[in-house]
Amino acid sequence: MAKFSDGAARVRFAPSPTGHLHLGGLRTALFDWLWARKTGGKFILRIEDTDRRRLEPESVSSLMRGLRWLGLDWDEGPDIGGPHSPYIQSERQEVYRKHAQALVDRGQAYRCYCTPERLETMREEQRRQRKPTGYDRRCRGLSDSERAEREAEGLPSVVRFAVPEEGVTVFTDLLRGEVQVDNRQLQDEVILKADGFPTYHLAAMVDDHLMQITHVLRGEEWLSTAPLHRLIVDAFGWDMPVLVHLPVILDPSGKGKMSKRKKTVAGKEYLALVHEFEDAGYLPDAMFNFLTNVGWNFDPVEEVFSREEAIDRFQLEEINPSAAALPYEKLDWLNGLYIRELTAGALKAALIPFLSRQLGLREDDLAGDRKLDILAPVIQERIKRLDEAAGWLDWAFQDAEDINYNEPKLLIGRKMDVDGSIQMLQAGASLLETVEPFAAESIQGAFREKADELDVKAGSLFGPIRGAVSGKKVSPPLFESIEALGREETLRRIERAKLALENLQTDEG
Ligand code: GLU
Repeated sequence: MAKFSDGAARVRFAPSPTGHLHLGGLRTALFDWLWARKTGGKFILRIEDTDRRRLEPESVSSLMRGLRWLGLDWDEGPDIGGPHSPYIQSERQEVYRKHAQALVDRGQAYRCYCTPERLETMREEQRRQRKPTGYDRRCRGLSDSERAEREAEGLPSVVRFAVPEEGVTVFTDLLRGEVQVDNRQLQDEVILKADGFPTYHLAAMVDDHLMQITHVLRGEEWLSTAPLHRLIVDAFGWDMPVLVHLPVILDPSGKGKMSKRKKTVAGKEYLALVHEFEDAGYLPDAMFNFLTNVGWNFDPVEEVFSREEAIDRFQLEEINPSAAALPYEKLDWLNGLYIRELTAGALKAALIPFLSRQLGLREDDLAGDRKLDILAPVIQERIKRLDEAAGWLDWAFQDAEDINYNEPKLLIGRKMDVDGSIQMLQAGASLLETVEPFAAESIQGAFREKADELDVKAGSLFGPIRGAVSGKKVSPPLFESIEALGREETLRRIERAKLALENLQTDEG
């Protein structure tokens, strides 16, 4: 093991394209990447698509998109090639076939002709006898002539690895130390399937060797297969890479393993897939910061750090092997923080796709809309996710006619009546007709003077105006909102609000 501990690491992220990338997978990739960058090594992307039944071909691009989104660039991979191309296992079938044959030739693996029906009957019988289920090694004992017969018949077969019948297998996990397993507990697993595709056990071991992988970071669910992997690697006479089984991520309840789907815990919906986090408006930098601390800890006190600092401090040995639930609240908090650090230009650019999608507006129109230049900075402090912006800003992009003034409470200030509110709207309108320049600060000054002059509380004047401007009780700061809408549009809205109140008067009268 020591052989690999120093120097430039070669690590691989080896997802199976069976669906969208979830946060657990992204965390594995992130730790791979951190280790490669820290050691000045290489981060390799390998697609493990040998399980043809579970294959979802579109998920390859989704996986790549997720990695790119987080800023995890790879040095070798299916799209960019590299010294060990191809990096898609389905394109390397011949390599695995040859390796499986080499083991068969040496008696370390054997062809098994048992039909799925026979295996099922065998398992049923084992269950009936309350014995552990597993392959009974019937084909391991076939004589040469029995094999020749079956081959002559053209029977389909798989290749199984021949686990030593006695002894123990020892492997080391960097986080858990030495683990010993009695070989009698191990199965003669299939390494090459009847369709000619290898199973994970063979393909991953062969590729990790040929691609000169020094460290294997993978989910804890693979821990139980590590003894078999050790035996396969030994059978070829290769060196074992350093194994690091990463802790499981638990769902927010802390009870179950995090699922690949959105999950509702205590009435709250939690996201699981990487693209869902992207769609909700989490910033890659915030996610990077957050995930780095899931299973590893940058510092007991400092919560916020840069990518460079993370690379600098990251240590595989410090990963905590115990499972932990994701602290989602921390992600929201971090995201709010990273949003507040964006420059005005970056914030606007980040918001445009969200507002476009959620409010049905064209991105080009939004890019050229000065309302957004004024309003984006004022909601910056108020949002934790980019998808919250639409709820703050929808009114600014509606037509006056589409604003709903039917809720009188919206336009009538506290301790005020309809008449009083109409007066406030009128006073506001006459002021806005002339105020110069038409900018938040001067508008605010004029409004305060007006409130003094009328001898009313500022809030009594601002309340109805706010309702008229946005049609909402809670909205971004009023004077920036007025400036953003512009003189004409604000006056139009105040006029409509006034009409709504007047109708109320007639209805009541
Ligand atoms: N293809 C395996 C998976 O997606 C990879 C496990 C490993 O990293 O070795 O779970």
